[in-house]
Amino acid sequence: MIKQISDHVYVMPFDGERDRPHIGYIQGEQFSVLVDVGNSPEHLSEVLNETQENNLPEPTLAIITHWHWDHTFAMHAFKGKTIAHKKTNDILSQVSTWEWTKDAMMERLRTGEECQFCHHHILIEYDDISEMKVVTADIVYDNTLSLDLGNLTVHVVPIDNPHSDDGVVLFVEEEKVLFAGDADSGEYYKLDGGYDSDRFYHYVKTVDQFPYETYIHGHVGPFNREETQRFRQTIIDEEL
Ligand SMILES: [Zn+2]
Repeated sequence: MIKQISDHVYVMPFDGERDRPHIGYIQGEQFSVLVDVGNSPEHLSEVLNETQENNLPEPTLAIITHWHWDHTFAMHAFKGKTIAHKKTNDILSQVSTWEWTKDAMMERLRTGEECQFCHHHILIEYDDISEMKVVTADIVYDNTLSLDLGNLTVHVVPIDNPHSDDGVVLFVEEEKVLFAGDADSGEYYKLDGGYDSDRFYHYVKTVDQFPYETYIHGHVGPFNREETQRFRQTIIDEEL
């Protein structure tokens, strides 16, 4: 069930079993935006069914937080325009050439191109891997981006973080909601879920300059500011 976070921000809850992350929905007066599109067309259509049932206008734009499969593999099924940072799009462009057969998947695991965690969950989400399709975004930007959705401002800002080189955060200014992608998490491709502590502390220091009241990580929360600090403390205690 989609959850209302603030006056114009909603979130479709994550599902750990299928590695489906939080999908955000931001309702402007002029147009509405999705934050990430989900890991499969089925995931995306569940989100869109929920928005319809809640009489929310169809989103015409989707902003991608980072390239990872669970956030992007439904891009080809999204009817509106998708928008991604250049770094994200460059990686998606490479991934769009991947072949989706059992052999090709096993080979990518062997070379380290794919991570074990993703491989495992892809096979749970997709009954038929030959249906998998990866595409690049319709709109690409470099640096930062601000959007006026109609009485609602969204800032999209890349921040170096411990999870993925291409990560951006989204800040909904009037409602003080921040979408973090998975930025506080460890690195699954190079460090097997481990942390680079410099990148972690740099990220935390930078993102905390936003006056957010609600923090939406891809796979935990949502948190208020205090809960976000506690979540980070757990990472510091257990991982750094
Ligand atoms: Zn991720």
